[in-house]
Amino acid sequence: MLGDCHAHMIMDGINYRSAVALHRHGVCEDAVRKHLCACRDAGVLFVRDGGDGSGVSKFAKELALEYGIEYRTPVFAIHKKGHYGGIVGYPFETWAEYRALIQRAKEEGADFIKIMVSGILDFAHAETLTEEGLSKEEIQYMIHAAHDAGMAVMAHCNGDTTCFLTLEAGTDSLEHGFFMSEDTLHLLAEKRTPWFPTLAPVGNLLGCGRFPDEEVKKNLELQTERVKRAASLHACIGLGSDAGAYLVPHGQGTIDEYEYLKRAQVPDQTLLETEKRIRRIFKRA
Ligand SMILES: [Zn+2]
Repeated sequence: MLGDCHAHMIMDGINYRSAVALHRHGVCEDAVRKHLCACRDAGVLFVRDGGDGSGVSKFAKELALEYGIEYRTPVFAIHKKGHYGGIVGYPFETWAEYRALIQRAKEEGADFIKIMVSGILDFAHAETLTEEGLSKEEIQYMIHAAHDAGMAVMAHCNGDTTCFLTLEAGTDSLEHGFFMSEDTLHLLAEKRTPWFPTLAPVGNLLGCGRFPDEEVKKNLELQTERVKRAASLHACIGLGSDAGAYLVPHGQGTIDEYEYLKRAQVPDQTLLETEKRIRRIFKRA
């Protein structure tokens, strides 16, 4: 089995609030061990976490080797105050604060920097985001400052313009990347930037009743078509399930994501090569 290049140990795939509450008074070791077991049992022996504000992924890294899992973490994600990202990390208002967070992540043992530059899908309405992305200048500054600090960048990003700007600014991986246009897919392929289209958090919603199925289906089909197109352009596409997200349990969620990627006709060789690159780049020097 391939590794999972986008997971969140802090979440349980069932209920975000109660999963986070478990760690309110310090990391709940039992919960982390349960998720690591699920990964190991599914044969997922490489995990790149997307970070959290409670030290869970940092702790998971300390335990992971016991389970034969190679674990990488940004410790926490960084977002601009007033924008999406509070559920996985810390905010900044000024560039001095942003640089201080990079420094803090490094001191806490981060393998790379995770940034949030756009909103998330509005699951109830196809082709809609909760908010647009940051400006070109902001995205460039965030990526360049992390690189200057010697760190690779994992960017949470949706929306065509924001994806284009984030790829152009040199992110080391693009997470989610919903609604990319033909031009942006070409840039993705040219730059050889690893892309994790995270189909499982959308597809696994089908039939659950929380959102209208026809809207969910539209988003799943749109993203599947774009993945197919990117694969035909020989883009660097990888397996990252967003495990921990609603209805994407650790272990099984990775297997589900693999199935969605196969339906989108991504060759195993592509997935394998992308994982190899992630293992090489998203590592402390
Ligand atoms: Zn995520």
